[in-house]
Amino acid sequence: MNLQPMDEQTREVRARLMKQVTTMQEAGECPTCHGSVYPPAMNRVIYEDEIVLCLLETYPRNPGHTIVMVKAHYNDISELPPEVAASVFSTIQRAIHALKTHLRAEKVYLCTMCDGKRNHLHFQLIPRLPGDEIRGSRLFVKERQLLTDYNDDVLALRRLMA
Ligand SMILES: [Zn+2]
Repeated sequence: MNLQPMDEQTREVRARLMKQVTTMQEAGECPTCHGSVYPPAMNRVIYEDEIVLCLLETYPRNPGHTIVMVKAHYNDISELPPEVAASVFSTIQRAIHALKTHLRAEKVYLCTMCDGKRNHLHFQLIPRLPGDEIRGSRLFVKERQLLTDYNDDVLALRRLMA
């Protein structure tokens, strides 16, 4: 995989997307459940079952930045039934193992944001790679880039998650 600095056009595309997301959230609509906001991304999916979808982030902060999206709508962790939470965290653990193996990540950080008036529960996994500064929170605010050349990585991660 390759991370490229975002050019002006890519920044505009992302800014429009984020504006649309915010507008919908302010209106009490969930952009994820709505289905038409986020572009189809099946070529970035590394794992899927009936509960979650795991995919590489389009605009990653570090190589291997992965989104674990819970398919059903929950606003945050507090709403997860215990059996769903167990399944989600089992998948997160497997994804972390896969990212560590594939990218030789030293650690994989886990973050969940609950922004907006209507948040769709998802988790962000951000690998810390050899050479990255060991000040974890800085990975969460590192500049987003554009993910390219990821097909082989998706296939490898799919195999590791299988
Ligand atoms: Zn939703």
